[in-house]
Amino acid sequence: MSSDQYKPTIGLEIHCELNTGSKMFCSCPNGNGEVKPNVNVCPVCMGHPGTLPVANQEAIKLVMKTGLAIGSEILKECKFDRKNYFYPDLPKGYQISQYDLPFCLGGKIEIEDGTGAPKTIRVTRVHLEEDTAKLLHPDGEDHSLVDFNRSGVPLMELVTEPDIASAVEARRFAEELQLILRYLGVSDADMDKGKMRVEVNISLSIVGPDDGKLGTKVEIKNLNSLRAVEGSVAYEIERQRKVIESGAKVIQETRGWNEAKLETFSQREKEEAFDYRYFPEPDLAPYRVSDEEIRKTRSEIGELPAAKRSRFASEFSLDGKTVDIYVKNRDLGSYFEKTISELANWVKEQDMKEDVLAEEFVKLCKLTSNYLVTDVLGLLKNQNFSQGQFKTSPENFAEFIKMIYKGEISSKIAKIVLQVMMETGADPSNIIADKGLAQISDGVEIEALVAGVIKNNPKAAEDFKKGKENAFQFLVGQILSKSRGKANPQIAREILKKKLDEI
Ligand SMILES: [Zn+2]
Repeated sequence: MSSDQYKPTIGLEIHCELNTGSKMFCSCPNGNGEVKPNVNVCPVCMGHPGTLPVANQEAIKLVMKTGLAIGSEILKECKFDRKNYFYPDLPKGYQISQYDLPFCLGGKIEIEDGTGAPKTIRVTRVHLEEDTAKLLHPDGEDHSLVDFNRSGVPLMELVTEPDIASAVEARRFAEELQLILRYLGVSDADMDKGKMRVEVNISLSIVGPDDGKLGTKVEIKNLNSLRAVEGSVAYEIERQRKVIESGAKVIQETRGWNEAKLETFSQREKEEAFDYRYFPEPDLAPYRVSDEEIRKTRSEIGELPAAKRSRFASEFSLDGKTVDIYVKNRDLGSYFEKTISELANWVKEQDMKEDVLAEEFVKLCKLTSNYLVTDVLGLLKNQNFSQGQFKTSPENFAEFIKMIYKGEISSKIAKIVLQVMMETGADPSNIIADKGLAQISDGVEIEALVAGVIKNNPKAAEDFKKGKENAFQFLVGQILSKSRGKANPQIAREILKKKLDEI
């Protein structure tokens, strides 16, 4: 049997720690990056008897904001429930979560499938709960330690419908959600820091007479990178296919992901569905959401990644790959926009017909993008683009692009100028003046350069006379190199042509 006779059905459960000042049910700091264990704690988040929870309004708002951004229905009446289970990371013996009345129901996120076609992934629900404490297992010790800093941190859970059909789609969904959460300011969603954690539910059904009958569901937990999401799903599709083809049965179980071996491994077999004995949290009143609250929250949502993507593609005529870089790197995107707004004002002042103006604007957008994405990011290497690390103002950068566009500096000189701009943030015209990089457009000076180059390369001059076009390019290169990139290439070409014709 070939692999296309199997159909993967994949759903995701994604947990995100919310960017609030304090924890979900107490006033302890939501200690972002706190490394010392058990400092952000109080009797509430340590689960002491007799303490009472108070719901964090900011966290509720962030969950609603997420729901509104992805088109969920915001329930007018919601409540918190107790999810009962015993585990050392849960001091109360139950987790406050939401069962049948979560804040958000439904919704959808658009992604691209493996072929680049648009695909809608439906969201089942988005609810709010509290995070558990963290268990630490010291190497070589026979005990575990509990750090309660994370206990009670607001945690949002988003569950998708089983609409995902491949490893690439699973990764793209997680990636798009991560971007949306960052745009909304809901969560940092850094997977390596555990701020966003992905769980995959995956089953393989055989396409054919039994079509529609789902295979056995396997869960993959603790995925802490987008690469792990894609890698584990791809691996699991193959593993389950091989199991089925060998005549064996896929076991319902929870599996982990071994990053080093790039394979999933069995963690535990699923016993009978665990009964969490959910019941309404008696210490918290049901939450009623007013239309005003929804309206206000909606009004605080800015431009989302999908909208930005289509705006950048249509407004600046950029290709999909470049647009994606700007959407993912928001600082770079907004820097590009500021630079372009300077250039748009300038190009409008030029005496051009409307259609020419539009064409020149597109050229400027491409030129700016080439320098920002290739050169600037290249020079920054692994550093993140931010105003702090890139000292040049958008005004100066626009000035720099104008010089290249007008042919006032060659690409070689541009690289030198850019390097200095990166280091000092100085005005490009000052750099050119200071370093003596101004272009040589003086005919007499260029004539001298041309004469010297022809004299030193008689073979090339002869070849050109015999009709070898390459020889001409070679001589132009020699002239530019002799002038250290400063000779105006246009003038150099004209003079060279004239001189060679005279021979
Ligand atoms: Zn606390």
